[in-house]
Amino acid sequence: MSKIGITKFEELYDSVKKYIKDENELELIKKSYETASSFHLGAIRKSGEPYIQHPLNVAMILTGIYADYETICAALLHDTVEDTSLTLDDIEKEFGKTIAILVDGVTKINKINFSTDNEATIAYHRKIFVGLSEDVRVIILKLADRLHNMRTLWALSEEKKKKNAKETLEILTPIAHRLGIHKIKSELEDLSLRYLKPDAFYSIVEKLNQTKLEREKNVQDMMNEVSEMLKEHGIRHEIKGRAKSIYSIYNKMNKGKTFNELFDLLALRVLVDTEQDCYMVLGLIHSKYRPIPKRFKDYISRPKTNMYQSLHTTVFGIDGYQFEIQIRTYDMDKIAEYGIASHWSYKEHTQASKSMQNAMEQKLQFFRNIIELQEEKTSAEEFVNTVTEEVLKANIYVFTPKGDVIELPKDSTPIDFAYRVHTEVGEKMVGAMVNNMIVPLDYKLKSNDIVKINTSNLSTGPSKEWINMAKTSHAKSKIKNYFFKKDKIEYIKLGEEELKKEFRRKKISWNEFIKEDNIKKLLDALKEKELNDIYISVATNKYTPNHVIHTMENMNSPKTNDIEIPKNNFINKELGIKNDIMIEGSDDIKANIASCCKPIMGDDIIGYITKGNGVSVHRKKCHNILDLDERLINVAWNTEISKKYPTELIIEADNSKNPLIDIITKAANNGINIDNINTINRSITITYEVTVLVNNKETLDKFIQDLENLTFIKKVDRLIK
Ligand code: MN
Repeated sequence: MSKIGITKFEELYDSVKKYIKDENELELIKKSYETASSFHLGAIRKSGEPYIQHPLNVAMILTGIYADYETICAALLHDTVEDTSLTLDDIEKEFGKTIAILVDGVTKINKINFSTDNEATIAYHRKIFVGLSEDVRVIILKLADRLHNMRTLWALSEEKKKKNAKETLEILTPIAHRLGIHKIKSELEDLSLRYLKPDAFYSIVEKLNQTKLEREKNVQDMMNEVSEMLKEHGIRHEIKGRAKSIYSIYNKMNKGKTFNELFDLLALRVLVDTEQDCYMVLGLIHSKYRPIPKRFKDYISRPKTNMYQSLHTTVFGIDGYQFEIQIRTYDMDKIAEYGIASHWSYKEHTQASKSMQNAMEQKLQFFRNIIELQEEKTSAEEFVNTVTEEVLKANIYVFTPKGDVIELPKDSTPIDFAYRVHTEVGEKMVGAMVNNMIVPLDYKLKSNDIVKINTSNLSTGPSKEWINMAKTSHAKSKIKNYFFKKDKIEYIKLGEEELKKEFRRKKISWNEFIKEDNIKKLLDALKEKELNDIYISVATNKYTPNHVIHTMENMNSPKTNDIEIPKNNFINKELGIKNDIMIEGSDDIKANIASCCKPIMGDDIIGYITKGNGVSVHRKKCHNILDLDERLINVAWNTEISKKYPTELIIEADNSKNPLIDIITKAANNGINIDNINTINRSITITYEVTVLVNNKETLDKFIQDLENLTFIKKVDRLIK
């Protein structure tokens, strides 16, 4: 479509001045523009416009949702750190910490390559996106940034158009929806459709144009009639004809509706002052026009989770045409259009970002919980399930006795409810009541249930059965955690016993082991804090008693464990067998990659002949094979084969820098997939256990190098269990 005309700063400034009155704030916006424009000077966008047009338009979009001055400033500066010599420190010095944080947030998010291929990664990326935007304004900025990029998408290559459109639809519009920012969401959807399915898009546009005059006339007639009626009853109101978005038409056609059926559906919106008026208007409309059964929806008494409120009904109007009518107050209308951003337009400005932050916490609670969940131990599969179950599938809405709405996945029980309210409520729960009736704890909650949890200080705590009764991973992991803490004492005992047993078997002196000096060195080598941690690690199989013994021996007499293996006699290579690992002297033994050290192509490897399960392939460094000389066999990589191997890294980083996003970005840049991330320790430093899928050692080494070059990454190690 057409190129958008040049926007001038004066236009932005006029638009901003309509709702920002503070002189200092206006001054800072001006300064942001001047800074951005001088740093971007000379740069040209693909569309041929001067670069500054982009940030200027992003800011312009944001004035449309009454963004606060800090967001506008950050919008103007958002690409300077990435594209010019201006640094984050400069921004902080000149514009303050908040604006610097916002710019940094957008810069970081822009570096992620959201290449989407399946449901799991899509959900994962949405999660990353939300989880890493610590301030809700970062998300709103990103949405506006994307909207302008989508408006100017015509300038990019065909491939890029499709990629951006797909990413927008899969990742950004669901988030916009979640936050209720309909105004931006619906334009993003239409633009995405235009580039993703141009045929479908233009065919709808054409049909809409053909029928435009007739539709407009019908809508106008109906508007006049309804308006007359409301005036007779003295109800102050405003009626608007309403254009359906092309994307929503496309979606309905995809669900089997024909265009003609949809064309018949004309749309009106009635705006009134009070909630009471809404119901009055509804009554009047239903008394005059015959409503279509089951099409009436009351989102006023039961708002959607993104705060949307309105009455919806469909009636047979003038000449038998069907009219879809929305009835709502002006306030509800603002929320319907702006969602979370509506806080800007009617709260005190100083309060706005704070109350938005609170609202977002609620709206995005599910995303947040998943992040939390990741910090406790979960497998990749469990994680993907959580995302699909809790975010994408149907939810129910139940109430606390005070009337607060709580959103839960379908089939949740009072246990989930209790833990959602507060961990302590869960841990002290002795029973539950639903709609004033006592129910069992595995009772499946239904929408609209009023749930009361009975708690007691005398409670002996949760029972292990609850883990199976709970539906949400949030509750499950909280319960598991409770037992983990409780079981800790037992683990310590168990680990100590196991270790002692191995010492006896190997005839190593326990007294030598327990000497203060030895323990001190050992704690260092094993990266543990205290002796009990070693026992727990042994009891929970983090490592074996043998690992402790080897570490101790290596400490006292460092020796190299490299075994010289001549690289010959690999039959497979000559035969061209398609195994990725070749075993010396054999072409039909199964080779399995050992899960303790997870070797990847290019690692020095050695095989271990197992009893009945082929050869397991370890890294030569792996401590699990060090004393197994007799059963070892030479193996080698078949470099003809290329595939991705899973391997595990332990990454230690500075906790203050939100390092996850950089880790993910660096992985993406190196063509490495991240399969799972667990936070295993969080204090001043944060430790992640990351499973990556990688082609070969060279790529992995490069990735590790990239990470180590980041100042806030302290250490990267490959994990051997
Ligand atoms: Mn941008």
